[in-house]
Amino acid sequence: MAKKGCRYVIVGGGLAGASAVEGIREVDPEGSILLIGSERHLPYDRPPLTKKLWFGQKKVQEIFLHDESYYSRHCVELRPGVRIMSIDPRRKEITDERGRTYGYEKLLLATGGSPRRLPVPGGDLQGICYYRTLYDYLRLRREAAEGKSAVVIGGGFIGSEIAAALNISRVDVTMVFPSSYLCNRVFPEYLGRAVLERYRQRGIRVLSGTAPASFSRQGDRFVTRLRNGQEIESDVVIVGIGIRPEVETARTAGLETDNGIVVNACLQTSHPDIYAAGDNAWFPYEALGKGVRVEHWDNALNQGRWAGRNMAGARRRFDYMPYFFSDLFEFGYEAVGEVDSGLETIPCWRKENDTGVIYYLKDKIIRGVMMCNLWDRIDAARELIRMRVSAGPEICDRIP
Ligand code: NAP
Repeated sequence: MAKKGCRYVIVGGGLAGASAVEGIREVDPEGSILLIGSERHLPYDRPPLTKKLWFGQKKVQEIFLHDESYYSRHCVELRPGVRIMSIDPRRKEITDERGRTYGYEKLLLATGGSPRRLPVPGGDLQGICYYRTLYDYLRLRREAAEGKSAVVIGGGFIGSEIAAALNISRVDVTMVFPSSYLCNRVFPEYLGRAVLERYRQRGIRVLSGTAPASFSRQGDRFVTRLRNGQEIESDVVIVGIGIRPEVETARTAGLETDNGIVVNACLQTSHPDIYAAGDNAWFPYEALGKGVRVEHWDNALNQGRWAGRNMAGARRRFDYMPYFFSDLFEFGYEAVGEVDSGLETIPCWRKENDTGVIYYLKDKIIRGVMMCNLWDRIDAARELIRMRVSAGPEICDRIP
């Protein structure tokens, strides 16, 4: 039977949840902590699932954030493989799928999100990989060996990174996505087209401007039928078409939700003893002056830690500006702020569409910065955004 009445209960065994443990322990070395996660693994880092694990730069055992002894040393009770189904804020209790209840004084919802499903015939066929977890990585590694073929649906973060990883692993890759170039929500068109050209030169077949209409099986293989009637056979199908933040349990409990669980600057939900952090939290982004939800690693890392500290009594406003990064063959970047392809952009290239800085502007004010194949300049970029610097003729000297 589960221990009842922990001081801190964290729901979500991902990066935000594990970081919250660190945050709590910075302020409260003793209060009891229960960490509940739906996956069966200890908390791990997700970026290597589409990057370093494929490039031989990390082994699976190296992606775990801490080993088991860390949690016991810090008096954290772990409950992997448990799904929380309801919250009773009045009784300060949560209930799992087997009807077990857990009491809390402070609760953190770091429940992330789940992959969006393709609402087409065959979209739920067994074997289609909606890529997100370590389990998905292990399975794909087995099924997509050298010489196999893969259809990758989606041209966003997962699609672009996993297509590159599979290509490097000598898998024959076909990409399918609705826009005309890669990462179209983030990259300005000139960059998205240039990066796409790299993919084609690497031998990836790119079918842009379309989407799957159905999937079926032919023996061991998948058949992906596109909206234009074209059919592609492959050994595996991987889908990355975005995530749905896990907000249902919070909504049912009466917490305020929107496109995420709404939190204030201290990361408290509409119920003051319940906090949220990571992919599912809709928070006030101070430097941009608006509410956002951020689905990136660095946000989960820092927001989780911040929420932990605040749960333990720190009460500090979350004024951190998370960055994100990606590696697409030889093109890598780091970015911060409002990196939205719908904004006006000014590129300052040292080498066109390869090395340089792109500024994202709204009403001539710098809102976001992407540093392409340039590293360790994030703090300078944060400062420009925080100071609401306007883009003058010297803009290209701002970040050397
Ligand atoms: P994403 O970046 O939002 O990309 C979704 C892609 O799916 C877009 O190309 C979108 O095209 C396409 N799409 C949407 N509906 C489609 C359909 N019916 N058929 C085919 N394509 C469709 O989401 P993601 O790549 O799945 O990533 C999931 C999460 O992982 C995100 O939270 C992301 O932040 C995170 N992640 C981050 C990183 C990183 O920071 N480097 C790396 C991996 C994953 P349109 O844009 O044209 O709609």
